[in-house]
Amino acid sequence: MNNEQLQAWVEKISLRSFGVPFRHQARYNRRLRSTGGRYFMKTHDIEINPSQLETFGEEEVERIIKHELCHYHLHLSGRGYRHRDQDFKSLLNKVGGSRYCLTLPERQERKTLPYRYKLVCTNCGMEYLRKRRMDPSRYRCGKCASRLKLITLGSKDG
Ligand SMILES: [Zn+2]
Ligand SMILES: [Zn+2]
Repeated sequence: MNNEQLQAWVEKISLRSFGVPFRHQARYNRRLRSTGGRYFMKTHDIEINPSQLETFGEEEVERIIKHELCHYHLHLSGRGYRHRDQDFKSLLNKVGGSRYCLTLPERQERKTLPYRYKLVCTNCGMEYLRKRRMDPSRYRCGKCASRLKLITLGSKDG
C-alpha cells in the first residue's frame, strides 16, 4: 500500500468514525520502529509504521489510524488530546482505537521526569538533585570534592 492509498484510507476512517474530514497529510514511515503511528502537533500530519500492516494486518492499522485521529481531531478542536486527558480516553474508547502510539508531546513528558534522588555531600551538605538513580561513589562534591551520599526522595532511608 502506498501513501496515496493510506491518505484515502485515513480520510475515509475520519469521516466514517469521527464525522469530520481529515485535511492534512498521512504517510508511511518505516523508521517508526517500535511504535505504530505518530501525530505531529505542528503540521497536524500523521505517520503510520508500515511494518504494522505487514505484521498485524489492516484491522490493527485501522485501530492505530483511529488512535492518531483522536489526537488530531481533539487537538484541532482545542480539547484534551493527550493520552491522560479524559476527552482522549473517551473518544478513543468510542471509536475503538488502539491504545498504543507515540506522540511528540509525550516524548517531552518523558524527558521531564521528576527529581527522585539527591546526592548530598558528606562534608559540606551541598545537595544535587537527580532524576535517575546513580552510583554516588563515582562522583564528588562540586564545591569541596568530598564524597557524596545518595538519598531517595520521599522515602525514609538516608
Ligand atoms: Zn497517542
Ligand atoms: Zn561538599
